[in-house]
Amino acid sequence: MIEKKQFYINGAWVEPIDGRDHPVIDPSTEEPCAVISLGGQADTDAAVAAAKAALPGWMATPVEDRIAALERVYAAYKTRTEDLARAMSTEMGAPIEMARASQVGAGIGHLKNFIAAAKAFEWERPLGDHAPNDRLIMEAVGVCALITPWNWPMNQITLKVGAALVAGNTMVLKPSEESPLDAMIFAEIMDAADLPPGVFNLVNGDGAGVGSQLSSHADVDMVSFTGSTRAGRLISKAAADTLKRVHLELGGKGANLIFADADEKAVKRGVLHMMNNTGQSCNAPSRMIVEAARYDAAVEEAAAVAQKVTVGPASEEGRHIGPVVNKVQWEKIQDLIQKGIDEGARLVAGGPGRPDGLNKGFYVRPTVFADVTQDMTIAREEIFGPVLSILKFDSEEQAVEMANDTPYGLTNYVQSADDARRQRLARQLRSGMVEMNGQSRGAGSPFGGMKMSGNGREGGAYGIHDFVEVKAVSGWAAE
Ligand code: NAD
Repeated sequence: MIEKKQFYINGAWVEPIDGRDHPVIDPSTEEPCAVISLGGQADTDAAVAAAKAALPGWMATPVEDRIAALERVYAAYKTRTEDLARAMSTEMGAPIEMARASQVGAGIGHLKNFIAAAKAFEWERPLGDHAPNDRLIMEAVGVCALITPWNWPMNQITLKVGAALVAGNTMVLKPSEESPLDAMIFAEIMDAADLPPGVFNLVNGDGAGVGSQLSSHADVDMVSFTGSTRAGRLISKAAADTLKRVHLELGGKGANLIFADADEKAVKRGVLHMMNNTGQSCNAPSRMIVEAARYDAAVEEAAAVAQKVTVGPASEEGRHIGPVVNKVQWEKIQDLIQKGIDEGARLVAGGPGRPDGLNKGFYVRPTVFADVTQDMTIAREEIFGPVLSILKFDSEEQAVEMANDTPYGLTNYVQSADDARRQRLARQLRSGMVEMNGQSRGAGSPFGGMKMSGNGREGGAYGIHDFVEVKAVSGWAAE
């Protein structure tokens, strides 16, 4: 069994001061695969103190040198891709092929985009022609606490670390206690990149411990968090007394509006997108809302596609989906599937229990409900499992009203051949992102939400912008 109890503080691996053992469970087998340590207040304080001490030097480091440091991180990351893929596959259940391509690949993309964005970023500029002696300086926010989830671990860690680092911040990363092993490999990558001690620190811990200690810490200037809306609320409250900046990327309940004129692959694409990562994505298109003329055919097709999705252990090669992350999530998903049945939705694929032949491991049957109505629990709550809800609409106006009828606002999707309609809808949908006709957003496009999906933007230039203070200066040069 892997034992990885140390933390990375001030440029070195150190023993916990106030740690307690925590088993990491492999969701494919339900067996422990590693032991880590969950830190306490003394560990949090040590990491924050190291980040605080490193701040003046790193902030004053010329941006070209900070970009060069990020380039070293990027190069080191590319030497550890197989280790990262195996760690994520074991601890959070991403099938190994998918872990290599998507989970590890997301980190490569973000680091590369940050290097390009940082080179093009206006770190200093005049206010405008009307005020030639006014200068705007983009300056680091300070000591940042980065709190990340288990569902897309490297995606989230690189989005936060890449932007914070290049903007001149120092940081303490607290990865999810469900997926600490990939984060510790990432700390080895940071170590190999030869940064000044204290710029990057990692402390393992749970939300109630290190998570809330960082959120309320007087010497932390900003918390950047990705995870549940529940934890986002607690972090905002814990951060309130010190008035630190709080950047939140929370849950979602994305609508996928399929019009009768959508391309022939639209339904299949929507189902497979929902099932990807076993449904554990905040931007999952979990509500497929279909125009009446195409509804019956869409339900039939969605059921057939879901029935063909295979489920299996994360260590096996192949295009199957893996288990969900843990017992709590498995039980929550089972409960929501049962609620769907009890509240009168029509089950057309999957259902409660494990898939045939898989008696151990947190496996869920790829599930599709038809005839879902907006008031049902499965249409309102983020399920975070491979469960799709299909609803019906009659008019474009009703489609928009249904899509926006949610407390969340992360990503909505539109499938239609009509350019004018897609452009109208892009403006009317209340979400940070709108993806249409299966086209993914471009490199460096900002990721983030509205309403209860959060308030930050990650990736590319906007992602860097979220990690700077805009300093306004007058009298820059003698008249
Ligand atoms: P979570 O929000 O509890 O955990 C995510 C991270 O937040 C972890 O690092 C955790 O230790 C930390 N955390 C938890 N409580 C905290 C607190 N009070 N203060 C500071 N940090 C805290 O998520 P979970 O319990 O692992 O999953 C539950 C649900 O969260 C899922 O069903 C899903 O709906 C949602 N979720 C969303 C995302 C996303 O990307 N939007 C990611 C993971 C989970």
